[in-house]
Amino acid sequence: MTTKHSFFTLLRRMAALLVLGALVCMPALGCARGSSARESEPAATAVPSPDAAAQTAEVSGNASDEAAGEPALIPWGGEGAIVDQAVSSASMIICFMSGEGMIMTGGAADSAFGDTKWGDGTLIAFPNGQTMLIDGGMASYAPLLLKNLEALGIDKLDYVVLSHRHDDHYGGLLCLHGVLESVKVGTVFSTGIYNGESSDPARLEAKALEHGVECVRLHKGDAMEFGGVRMEVLWPEADSFGVSTSTAEDTNNSSLVLRFDYGNVSALFTGDLYKSGEIALITSLDDTTKLDADILKIPHHGRPTSSSRDFVDAVTPKVAVALGAVIMDTAVYSTYVRDGAKVFMDVYDGYVKVTTDGRDLSYECSRSRNVAIYDKIDEAFGKAD
Ligand SMILES: [Zn+2]
Ligand SMILES: [Zn+2]
Repeated sequence: MTTKHSFFTLLRRMAALLVLGALVCMPALGCARGSSARESEPAATAVPSPDAAAQTAEVSGNASDEAAGEPALIPWGGEGAIVDQAVSSASMIICFMSGEGMIMTGGAADSAFGDTKWGDGTLIAFPNGQTMLIDGGMASYAPLLLKNLEALGIDKLDYVVLSHRHDDHYGGLLCLHGVLESVKVGTVFSTGIYNGESSDPARLEAKALEHGVECVRLHKGDAMEFGGVRMEVLWPEADSFGVSTSTAEDTNNSSLVLRFDYGNVSALFTGDLYKSGEIALITSLDDTTKLDADILKIPHHGRPTSSSRDFVDAVTPKVAVALGAVIMDTAVYSTYVRDGAKVFMDVYDGYVKVTTDGRDLSYECSRSRNVAIYDKIDEAFGKAD
């Protein structure tokens, strides 16, 4: 074990202890702090179904296997840098990468949480070689996030997006030795909406300024292009600049919603929108086909707070990915599968890679899932492998 690794391990455990302290002292804060039992959600959504609970043991089993060694790195760097792959195939490659590496095991502090992996983190490599990281997971993930970026051959990020100001999205970006300190970053995109629960709402801007990184606020109607991929901002509304949220739901509903179009293929990133935010988004759009997308980052880690029937029906994704330490409620999972989606959740599927050349899309994941309760749903709707 290298000194660097020991240091990062220590950092992870210190961060875990700090978060544990925060959880004990402030149980209502945050949006996705590990298992549903720790969140201030309605009781009906906090209790997993018996079948889902039974599958929790399987996740822990996988994690225990990994405890003896290093967490698995994202596996797709071995084919050459991800940027080279995107350029040579004129493709947009999306790596959902909060994946299996977020499993934290092997220490007393870590085991206090069970085996968890929190937050969102997605890398996009565009056909022109530009790169974008959307969210950076929790601070405890930063060492592994940086290793994964290195494994993918990333030595700079043209764009970093913070969907909203919760620490399972900004932690890995802003923390000591996190992305902004360790990787050359071109521009940071955010909403300009502060988390009123936070004591330091301008931390992102201060950190960006400290490292000479441009910080640009996005809102509905903004659009730009990256090598033939058009990005359009669908949410939040323009007049939200400077707003300070006061509840976790409001903060989640302030998430950036980004739509990417490359040829005939589209992708939608939704941050942590709740159902109320989804309905507000739908209502705000003159044309709800703007939500119709092939690839979806499922809102709020796949939790039942989100993915209303109206929203899922509007998106009807072919591939839908839930990131974070959430075992999806079977009702939420079924909603997507019923509408024709292949659903991945990184708890079981590990890292997920989706590639499109603007005509077709392909996908792969780093683990082989065998979870009866979801397999039955897939079989029922013809989505089994
Ligand atoms: Zn959140
Ligand atoms: Zn979150």
